[in-house]
Amino acid sequence: MSEIILQIDGREVGAKEGMTILEAAQSAGIVIPTLCHHEKLEPYGACRICSVEVEVHGWTRLVAACVYPVEQDLVVRTRSEKLDRIRKMILELLLAHAPDSPQLLDLAQEYGADKDRFEKEASFCIHCGLCVRYCAEVKKKYAVGFVDRGTRKEISFIPEIAAKECWDCKECFPLCPTSALQAAYVLTEALTSSSPSSEPESEK
Ligand code: SF4
Repeated sequence: MSEIILQIDGREVGAKEGMTILEAAQSAGIVIPTLCHHEKLEPYGACRICSVEVEVHGWTRLVAACVYPVEQDLVVRTRSEKLDRIRKMILELLLAHAPDSPQLLDLAQEYGADKDRFEKEASFCIHCGLCVRYCAEVKKKYAVGFVDRGTRKEISFIPEIAAKECWDCKECFPLCPTSALQAAYVLTEALTSSSPSSEPESEK
């Protein structure tokens, strides 16, 4: 694979064809914040916290670093006043859903986000999809998915699958950027409402 040279924050960075800006930055030790990214999962580009500025032929535009592929001579900025403003706004919106998320609070401190700016709509899930995608792409179990749409969208465990697969796994819990307890709660609820015959052997 040929090497591509791009510039990130004024530094020359070498990358392989097919890499994303995020991967190139990470390989050079340059930190770009992410919430919905996981190295074992296909890029998702949902949370937009990894937005960066790219300059192509004199034009600057905003792209999601986790999905945008590297290009020869691409000029990338990972911090600017505009980017900080965007990240601050994204964090303030997400904090209305998950005001106690340690990961969001850490980022809020870095970007000066006010966790009380927007009215609370605490649903805890910020729709990053990490749990859903990890279960499907890595575990191939499809035990958790999204239900409903828009503001009513939430995660839900499928009781028949969860009762069989989740007790010995639970690998999605620590992935959740808001609270592993939320995932645990939803799982417990799903298992409680499932039929007694779906309880794992050890629980009978
Ligand atoms: S429950 Fe957590 S990991 Fe799953 S989509 Fe919501 S925020 Fe992401």
